[in-house]
Amino acid sequence: MAEHLRDTLETHDWEEILSWQRAQLPGFVARLRERSPFYAERLAEADADLDGAGWARVPFTVKDDIRRTQRERGPEDPLLGPMQGVPDEEIAQVIGSSGTTGNPTFFGLTARDLDTWRDSLANWLAIAGVGPGNIVALTTGIPMVAGGMPYADAVRAVGATLAWIGGQPTERQAQLMDLLRVDVLMGTASFVGFFAERCAEVLGKPAPRLHVRTILAGGEPGIGNPETRRRTLEAWGAERISEVMGMCDVMAGMWAQCGQGDGMHFAASRNVHVELIDPETREPLAWADGVEGEAVYTTFTREATPVVRYRSRDHVKVLGMECACGRRTPRIACIGRTDDMLIYKAMNVFPSDIRDVILGHSGHIVERLRIRKASPDQVRFDDPIPVEIETGANVGDELAAELAEAVRRLLRVRVAIEWLPLGAIPVSSYKNALTYVPEPVTA
Ligand SMILES: [Zn+2]
Repeated sequence: MAEHLRDTLETHDWEEILSWQRAQLPGFVARLRERSPFYAERLAEADADLDGAGWARVPFTVKDDIRRTQRERGPEDPLLGPMQGVPDEEIAQVIGSSGTTGNPTFFGLTARDLDTWRDSLANWLAIAGVGPGNIVALTTGIPMVAGGMPYADAVRAVGATLAWIGGQPTERQAQLMDLLRVDVLMGTASFVGFFAERCAEVLGKPAPRLHVRTILAGGEPGIGNPETRRRTLEAWGAERISEVMGMCDVMAGMWAQCGQGDGMHFAASRNVHVELIDPETREPLAWADGVEGEAVYTTFTREATPVVRYRSRDHVKVLGMECACGRRTPRIACIGRTDDMLIYKAMNVFPSDIRDVILGHSGHIVERLRIRKASPDQVRFDDPIPVEIETGANVGDELAAELAEAVRRLLRVRVAIEWLPLGAIPVSSYKNALTYVPEPVTA
């Protein structure tokens, strides 16, 4: 039976949705050129056929454009730099990226942006299984990020009860989870796992004896892995885990897994145009089952800090274009960040692929694993890629060779497996438990 659909646009044929979106693009670009000094220059050449083939010739925007224009902002420039699309006084809220590298970048929301975000994020939550009757814990402790107030607004808008427990010590958060009978937990994939352990310690009873039944996990590609999903469900005694994904540069939640549990649907059709491109040739790819490419976004309704053909660096795979839930927006899996890709001899490989093969072939003995790099920006490996695996089990060379062989057979790259005792991967990496550790580690 089809789920309750909050946004009926999603039952339309995807090509129909795309052509409706394309019809919005020429007007959006025209308005943007009048208001944003950056885009007036960047889009000066973009003219012909913007609702058709001409769109593919419109220049991309990249993360560095945002960083650079904010860094080089002069005293006369708009608050958020020359990309800004409205006068300063129309910006109702500033949010910052939660990125751990470099200087923070900022994004703005006008009063109208706040409305479109609230509605779009509420739809995103609805797809992930949140609605009236749910008590939702928001564990974000930083007010300035997109996972703060925008998420809180969306939880209320979808009709659920907001329990914003973040920003307090984890002991207190654990007590509140129990006292307030929280049944939906949102957080990064690894935080959700870590939090189950902390709740058990603090409350003196296993996390499944709390009330959590639905988990929304995102922020890291790890939760797409079946073994990680199984463990996370088991840790909480939960019934459903919905993988979610978004970017504050574009829309803080754009992809969400429906009750069918097979990939994430696009959840922002009314506000964001999404394309797939080949990251090498930068040519657009058609939406179809099995296609892999980089997601590129255009925020055709965003006023304060819009983006045009923004390269996400997220490498995604289309799992399907139809779904039993009734939605006809594409379902995808996020395979990894284009930036994270490693090269072994001439083979490209994502750390998440290596992780998935190892988790799939090692039973339940892997506690954490990570790829060891010689320097933070190492991408190329001429020797087997070092993979450190933390385990409490009795393991040896034979299993290491078996796992390395599975990786070689399935991914055509060589890895060198090194066993580490429990607790050997530093606590600073703990938030990334069960996943590839994105912060590179010096050998
Ligand atoms: Zn679905």
